[in-house]
Amino acid sequence: MQLGDFEITPILDGHFRLDAGSLFGIVPRVVWQNKVRSDERHRMRLAIRCLLIRNGKRTILIDSGQGNKYSEKFRERYTVEQPVTLLDNLRDLAVKPEDVTDVINCHLHFDHAGWNTIREDGNPEGKLIPTFPNARYWSQRGEWERARQYSTQRDQASFEPNDFLPLEQPRWELVEGERRVLPEIELIPVPGHSLYTQAVVISAADRKVAFLGDLVPTVHHIPYAWIMAFDLHPVETLATKRRILPRAVREKWICVFDHDPDVPAARIIEERDGILGVIPAEEFA
Ligand SMILES: [Zn+2]
Repeated sequence: MQLGDFEITPILDGHFRLDAGSLFGIVPRVVWQNKVRSDERHRMRLAIRCLLIRNGKRTILIDSGQGNKYSEKFRERYTVEQPVTLLDNLRDLAVKPEDVTDVINCHLHFDHAGWNTIREDGNPEGKLIPTFPNARYWSQRGEWERARQYSTQRDQASFEPNDFLPLEQPRWELVEGERRVLPEIELIPVPGHSLYTQAVVISAADRKVAFLGDLVPTVHHIPYAWIMAFDLHPVETLATKRRILPRAVREKWICVFDHDPDVPAARIIEERDGILGVIPAEEFA
């Protein structure tokens, strides 16, 4: 869609699958199983959705998908489907990796930072180099530090060090708190999934598009209590949703969902007394 000077395009990097019970935390199976499809291994098929923002001067990628550095074992465990990759989809939009000026990582888990790096010449033993050689990479400083040093047994498996360790300074723009990438593009901390995860809000022509990252990974996560068991700080996720979602309703944000297999984006509405609902955004239909 066009938003002022910005062309905004959701881009997939394929799909993967995660345990559906874990995706809905404390919500009982008898409740979620009426709303989502799960496979014979009780997993839900999820999109891996990134967002491309272009204004003629900057080519900004929000999140970089699952990449291509994973092993066969990993591919099997998560049933990775990637008939076309993020890079294929960028090529179809006439975007070359060297054209990308900025990569904003909402956080640094393997399904959000996968194409940050690539093996040189496609050689599986090759040196790891930035996929986007001219890009500045944006992360919250706390997320980058945790990913490098402080991950715990609970979230270790979510990080692939090859996604971020080979990117040496000064490639990183490490942000502390709120920050504008451009006057119209704002990074907003949305703690919960990890303490230092961030969302991106683009404001132009009196409208706003928001990439909420794993704060609200699918439309099913709009109700306040539907919080992933993967979240390191679920009570913090709840507080963040209580702060951010009423603002999304008030300001009529078009919210992009990073993992929803069916609904790329929607407006969140208040149906009654704080109960939230959703209207799919025809701009991204
Ligand atoms: Zn994710």
